[in-house]
Amino acid sequence: MVETTSSGRTIHRRRQDGFGWEKVEKRPYKEDDRALFRAVTRQVLFADEKLASELRYFEVAPGGFTSLERHDHMHAVLILRGRGHCLVGREVRPLAANDLVTVPPWTWHQFRATAGEPLGFLCMVNADRDRPQLPSPAELDELRSDPQIAAFLTEPTRT
Ligand code: MN
Repeated sequence: MVETTSSGRTIHRRRQDGFGWEKVEKRPYKEDDRALFRAVTRQVLFADEKLASELRYFEVAPGGFTSLERHDHMHAVLILRGRGHCLVGREVRPLAANDLVTVPPWTWHQFRATAGEPLGFLCMVNADRDRPQLPSPAELDELRSDPQIAAFLTEPTRT
């Protein structure tokens, strides 16, 4: 039973098996196919015209990854389950449950799950936001010139 206020807002959605919630649709990560990404689902947990932000839950399947992108809006990320690595700017960091990751404006970022476990995280984002920019071949080459970033980008099975 999902309770709804007179304004039509749902006030309580119970957790379902695994990382799912009542009346929350599991969607593919992105509607358009511009970006290189693999095995990611997206659930919008909170989105309301009175909120300036949205809270989403992303789950990256084992060995999967989000698109490598940058944009003017920020991300505030809380890792909920699993393990993986993130690239933020030029920093590659290992990730574990309850870690926090801040993605500043115009910073290249990508999240990758380890081979054996899904990586699930909450991501807070501006409701009104600009479209992500993908790296040009030259920008990708520049990123790959850093051995640590090259290893991050080319090793989906790293642990
Ligand atoms: Mn992003």
